[in-house]
Amino acid sequence: MFAYWGKILRVNLSTGKISEEKFDEKFAQKWLGTRGFGIYYLLKEMDPTVDPFSPENKIIYATGPLTGTTAPTGGRYMVITKSPLTGYIAMANSGGFFGAELKFAGWDAIIVEGKADHPVYIYINDDQVEIRDASHLWGKLVSETEEKLREEIGDKRVRIASIGPAGENLVRFAAVMNDEHRAAGRGGVGAVMGSKNLKAIVVRGHNRVEVADRAKFTTVVKEKTDKLRKDPTAGGGLPNYGTAVLVNIINQNGLYPTRNFQESQFEYAEEQSGEAMTAKYLIRNKPCYACPIGCGRVNKLPTVGVTEGPEYESIWALGAHLGINDLASIIEANHLIDELGMDTISTGGTLATAMELYEKGLLKQEDIGEDAPPFRWGNTEVLHYYIEKIARREGFGDKLAEGGYRLAEMYNGTEYFMGVKKQELPAYDPRGAEGHGLGYATNNRGGCHIKQYMISPEILGYPYKMDPHDISDEKVKMVITFQDLTALIDAAGLCVFTTFGLGADDYRDMLNAALGWDLTTEEYLKIGERIWNAERLFNLKAGLDPLKEDTLPKRLLEEPVKQGPNKGRVVRLKEMLPRYYALRGWTEDGRIPEEKLKELGLDEF
Ligand code: SF4
Repeated sequence: MFAYWGKILRVNLSTGKISEEKFDEKFAQKWLGTRGFGIYYLLKEMDPTVDPFSPENKIIYATGPLTGTTAPTGGRYMVITKSPLTGYIAMANSGGFFGAELKFAGWDAIIVEGKADHPVYIYINDDQVEIRDASHLWGKLVSETEEKLREEIGDKRVRIASIGPAGENLVRFAAVMNDEHRAAGRGGVGAVMGSKNLKAIVVRGHNRVEVADRAKFTTVVKEKTDKLRKDPTAGGGLPNYGTAVLVNIINQNGLYPTRNFQESQFEYAEEQSGEAMTAKYLIRNKPCYACPIGCGRVNKLPTVGVTEGPEYESIWALGAHLGINDLASIIEANHLIDELGMDTISTGGTLATAMELYEKGLLKQEDIGEDAPPFRWGNTEVLHYYIEKIARREGFGDKLAEGGYRLAEMYNGTEYFMGVKKQELPAYDPRGAEGHGLGYATNNRGGCHIKQYMISPEILGYPYKMDPHDISDEKVKMVITFQDLTALIDAAGLCVFTTFGLGADDYRDMLNAALGWDLTTEEYLKIGERIWNAERLFNLKAGLDPLKEDTLPKRLLEEPVKQGPNKGRVVRLKEMLPRYYALRGWTEDGRIPEEKLKELGLDEF
């Protein structure tokens, strides 16, 4: 087998047992990698109804076949587990260098199960794997943790995936951080690590990933890299301004959610755009492993010194979403969130929920403490004060650490929670891109843009421009194709930003050259479809009620946009959802019938 080791590492933190398992090519062709491997093991080995914080929940760190190769952006890994935020599947991926290093160490994935009785970390040096004491690291920030581990191991080149205080304190949206500022952010995967007393995984690898035909692979990789370099977004907008290049574009198109989606354009967007950040604070770009795009930002501020990010979503979540217009404060807050190990989108979303509850008088000053900063739109004080409190679960931070939905429930205001399946929505108002809205509503991990980035066709024109308010079958089919294609790109171990420039055939070419397979594009997309359905199956078994939960906040369905290009629009989800179910081959109530399970080879679960 090429591009895989065929080896999975299993670590049981309850018993201390470390073992190795093999898989064959047949398994690889069925599940490909990352999300595919993760969902297979969860469905096979775990009861989907378990408490996410119980030792019975498993957490899987998986690479794809192209992780660690020279394929453009081939450095991704995925963290798969049951989410403490949604109660459904969580699959959060991250770039940086950790994924590639894990592959160099000779492992395709790590399954961690059980719970240690004291803080530990897992140290992997090729075949040598140990569970080591991490009591001295508990409570440490992400950068301190990385620094101390490097010192302790005596090897500057180790790569580390760890949690900060937020993960330790079971903040429901805590992230797994690697390379200090790269986050497997969404769904609270960091809190699951914390619940297992697992502070970090440290990896050092010395093996080269072998592909089937080195010469052919090199040629194919060069061709695809050139395509990315020539693309105006992948080779221009993203390297020049980072993902924040989107701030002005999305704002001008009237989709930039402001003050918890009460408005769809932010009057100060330009002052916190990628262009403004580049002019004021940028030192250089920072690409992930093998990435020709390099959207990562290294910024410098007098207050925090040199830091990384924020990217588009974070600028929005900590800016327009809260009515805040102070780019320096946003960058500082982003730095702090990375250090404490949290998801920026859910942090901002939870604070925005609190702000609207406060505005509507449901949350009162006496609830949060007379001395605490009031949750007023635009109050920058809120950022630093509550971010620390959330991560440490101190004072009102303990309630915020439960996430926006649970907070809104506590104060009788769930209609002000802007999320799907209890996960906070990202930075696009779907009333200005209705296919994107269908994507939010049907996403397996709840409010999420990245697993079906319909902004591409609806706003940016990739692979071709679609009317954002068209809700025909063609649009619904596009949502499905994007979902399956993204599952494939994730599973391969690549970054979804490659879709600016590459299409399904390009991924097929790279995979076939690396693996020595001869699969068609349709066969690869079928793997994506299998993964999507398997994740859906997990959610259904975990108790998902599709007709109630494949939905959007009432505001997006019933309150027309007040101003801008999408004035008067809502998302016509009711008209799209039944056709989505039908085109997916599901039942009218959003379940997967037996014949579909058989067709995808999922009937074993
Ligand atoms: S495009 Fe950005 S996030 Fe994706 S791999 Fe490259 S630097 Fe990392």
